[in-house]
Amino acid sequence: MNIDDIPVEFKNGLIPSHKPKMVYECIECENIYDIEQFLYTCPKCGGLLRLKDLNFDDLKRIPGKVWQKIFGFRRCLSIDALKGIFLYHELILPIIPLEDVIYLGEGYTPIVKANLELSSWVGTEFFIKYDGLNPSASFKDRGMASAISFINYMIKKKDIKELLGICASTGDTSAAAAIYLSYLPKDRVKSVVLLPEGKVTPAQLSQPLGAGAKVIEIPGVFDDCMKIVEELAENYDVCLLNSKNPIRINGQRSYSYEIAQQMDFDTKNLLVVVPIGNAGNITAIMEGFLNLYWLDIIEELPFILGVQSEHADPVVKWREDDRYQPVKVKPSVAQAAMIGNPVSFPKVYHLVKEHFEDHFFAIRVTEQEIMDGMITANRHGHVVCTQGGESIAGLKKAIEKKIIKDDMKAVVDSTSHQLKFSGFQQLYFENGFSKEYEISPKEELINKPEKMPANAKSIADYLGLKKKAKS
Ligand SMILES: *Cc1c(COP(=O)(O)O)cnc(C)c1O
Ligand SMILES: [Zn+2]
Repeated sequence: MNIDDIPVEFKNGLIPSHKPKMVYECIECENIYDIEQFLYTCPKCGGLLRLKDLNFDDLKRIPGKVWQKIFGFRRCLSIDALKGIFLYHELILPIIPLEDVIYLGEGYTPIVKANLELSSWVGTEFFIKYDGLNPSASFKDRGMASAISFINYMIKKKDIKELLGICASTGDTSAAAAIYLSYLPKDRVKSVVLLPEGKVTPAQLSQPLGAGAKVIEIPGVFDDCMKIVEELAENYDVCLLNSKNPIRINGQRSYSYEIAQQMDFDTKNLLVVVPIGNAGNITAIMEGFLNLYWLDIIEELPFILGVQSEHADPVVKWREDDRYQPVKVKPSVAQAAMIGNPVSFPKVYHLVKEHFEDHFFAIRVTEQEIMDGMITANRHGHVVCTQGGESIAGLKKAIEKKIIKDDMKAVVDSTSHQLKFSGFQQLYFENGFSKEYEISPKEELINKPEKMPANAKSIADYLGLKKKAKS
């Protein structure tokens, strides 16, 4: 729709005009630093950074109800920069001029009401938000869109001639980073991804390779890769694209803005269920809802349920003993969340202690529950990855254990696409999991192709088809 077709009383806020004053702020010592640099930890104390808009209060001049309408009408506009996560420009990264926004089709993923049989299996009606329908088939595109738009802005503004984007990954970050970076000018921007050898799926490995990134595989798990890129980012001239980079977190906040909008901004009794790996996503989701709450765009903060496999459960352990300790991970089908020492844990800690104390739950599920959750969902018309299966299993368990009430309006995050994890489905169907997963397939969930001769009669006999009556 053309801007001239919008009712005149809403034209005002439609094209973003907020004047931000953005800085990096240390979450520990609260020192602030100039935004126009690549910075990932506090130079003073080493703490994690978040982005802060010192002019945020200016946004309060517009009433929450009006913001709701602005975001609604913005959806109708055909302006590329406002089609994806930057629909919420003021709440993502308002220093980026619209002409520098990189939009590759991310965001505004569908939110789908779960099938009723599936709902009764889980114990409550719920919705699934399909973040696997982003361009690289995971939610990581949200944060990458903000990080790469920032790089695009910086290379022009500071006339940067050479930039190397780097990340460690359980598969999806590298896919997103490689694809988004490859959209920028090749002569200036290169990308490198570090993967734990054998611990990303073939589909995930094919993505950065296809996008032309340099792919480095090292022995170990994600946590080992992360340590190396942290050291590289500390000592060398590279741009870190993990969610330790707070610019990524800001982009990922769009997930909460969309849920709020898709739920008509009614967040009363809302429960958001999300798998936790490096804890970037859950951080972004809590920050996002807080922003909406501060601006009166929503009246209540939602409840958050974080889910982890028992093979990688440091956040659940922290909630149980109020003591945080990294864990050594064991193999998990929720491989994208198989992280023993989540980088963003200090942010989760602050957000929960300061804002979400009675609104935050964490639950642990078994590998068996994750696979059964994924396959059962997909048997009922959904397209859910192992991490989505993990979320569904977590919701089911939290209801069984009465950790949450069963009359909440739950939205489950299916963080990537089923097809990235089809190998695990195959292992399930073949009863091929190695012992450490402790997964034995349920007979009724197994499915296999049948080889038949190429003739209709034998297929009809096999299917037990009845012949049509001759008229
Ligand atoms: C990265 C990822 C996660 C974990 O998200 P964090 O931000 O690391 O907690 C979960 N699911 C999928 C599919 C992912 O790619
Ligand atoms: Zn500090």
